[in-house]
Amino acid sequence: MNSTMMDVQLLITGLLERAGHLYADEEIVSQRPDKSLHRMRYRDFYRRSKALAGALTAAGLAPGSRVATLMWNHYAHLEAYFGVPAGGFVVHTLNLRLHPSDLAYIATHAGDEVLIVDDVLLPLYQAIAGHVEFKQVLVVPTTGAPVAEPYTDYEAFLETCPQDYAFPELRETEAAAMCYTSGTTGRPKGVLYSHRSTVLHAFALGLTDTIGITRNDVVVPVVPQFHAMAWGLPYACAMVGAKQVLPGPHLDPESLLDLFDRERVTYTAGVPTIWLGIAQALESQPARWTLTPGLRMAVGGAAAPPSLIRALDRHDCTVIHAWGMTETSPLGTVSVPGPEHASFDDDGRVRVRAKQGRPAPFVEIRVVNDQGIAPWDGKTMGELEVRGPWVAAGYYGDGEGSEAFTEDGWFRTGDVATIDSSGFVEITDRTKDLIKSGGEWISSLALENALMGHETVAEAAVVGIPHPSWQERPLAVVVPHEGREADPAALRSFLETQFAKWWLPDEIIIVDTIPRTSTGKFQKRELKEAYRDRYGGLDKG
Ligand code: AMP
Repeated sequence: MNSTMMDVQLLITGLLERAGHLYADEEIVSQRPDKSLHRMRYRDFYRRSKALAGALTAAGLAPGSRVATLMWNHYAHLEAYFGVPAGGFVVHTLNLRLHPSDLAYIATHAGDEVLIVDDVLLPLYQAIAGHVEFKQVLVVPTTGAPVAEPYTDYEAFLETCPQDYAFPELRETEAAAMCYTSGTTGRPKGVLYSHRSTVLHAFALGLTDTIGITRNDVVVPVVPQFHAMAWGLPYACAMVGAKQVLPGPHLDPESLLDLFDRERVTYTAGVPTIWLGIAQALESQPARWTLTPGLRMAVGGAAAPPSLIRALDRHDCTVIHAWGMTETSPLGTVSVPGPEHASFDDDGRVRVRAKQGRPAPFVEIRVVNDQGIAPWDGKTMGELEVRGPWVAAGYYGDGEGSEAFTEDGWFRTGDVATIDSSGFVEITDRTKDLIKSGGEWISSLALENALMGHETVAEAAVVGIPHPSWQERPLAVVVPHEGREADPAALRSFLETQFAKWWLPDEIIIVDTIPRTSTGKFQKRELKEAYRDRYGGLDKG
């Protein structure tokens, strides 16, 4: 007989049961395409998620089958997050910003059988319909317009759940959810999350020294539900009973700020480009919105520039800077200053907060370079490797991805980083974004952060451009603040005070916009491509 603890499986079903019973009256608010708000309680969410599980089972879906979603952030997407895995299936979130050919590849590779799609996204589905075969397409009537043949109305489908449906017994190691990486190189790669990894990750998000979601929070995941499971926030909110506010398709700064104000939001999360826009809106119309004092904003997916942290501080918003990847569920590290930083002045604290931070419990980190494992001295750079219970052990059905995993069981992140003596990670670049000039490395991220610290600059991206004598030279593109003029010569002098001369970008080009990736980050690949031949390319002689 086992004389230690009970063998209770860590299942998403448990999170759902808890939310439905313990927090039955808590609200879930979703913004519809026409900006009206849909409201329901956790008790309805529980009932409807269960109905989805039961209806999928009654439709004859085999255990482990993939159910794809093509949806904005809203109640039905949340039901899929819980109902699909609790029913013993795998919810696969499709990124609606991808090109139809990538979507078709991903849905086929994953073996998706059922698709749940927003009515407003049907044109996107129709663009892939000829290339991928779903057994059933369920349409969510977010606009209120009736769902027409040949599609099945999601609401009608929920009605087909048998009265006596009960959730199946599952093992915690079974797959629960699936997400493909944005795939900046090669084909997108699939990451399969288990029930166990999802539940443990939710616990980690609840720690005060990481993300710290609590029962009293009102949470807006601005991060799309198709990006790394909305960073696990829906699961953490259900676990602690936090109110969820889902923005639907309206992700522009004004609409988001309206929502934060109206729903008394206390916690939100998204990529830096979102917060750069929010900071600008608050700067230009400071009196328009009344936000909850100290509104916490988790910033991740790309580096939070110190200037952004300061700008949001000025509006009494608190940036919580975190690092993670689709492969790490995504929480890896969070930068929360500790007692060792108590004596730091404001600037020093901002510098700490701009680092990527300490690993969450059970996430192990190391930096590896040609000399082996780097010391934790805050200086020695190398590739960041991680392992942990919510870090992928491999890519789904893809031998090609295996070189990302070391023989001794670590995941190679492709990020270049240092680790300091307190265990704070600082990312210098993506391996492929580091600029190699005259045999030395230049950090594009450090230059971007500095440029975005200039009063005239709203956004900046720096890329390495092939050069005949130097191999690569940095080139910067800069978007000025609204109504301001940015002067390349002045910006250059500004950088000169902070960096060695050979680090300075050969050119600083003023542009209207910087292209974004499908998850809202700066699209450096496109920039590199656009300026590829600017310096005459590599010397082939
Ligand atoms: P994705 O899987 O699409 O979310 O991309 C993960 C990648 O985003 C990481 O490997 C990093 O390069 C980048 N990233 C995420 N968070 C941060 C951060 N806080 N600072 C710098 N880069 C980040």
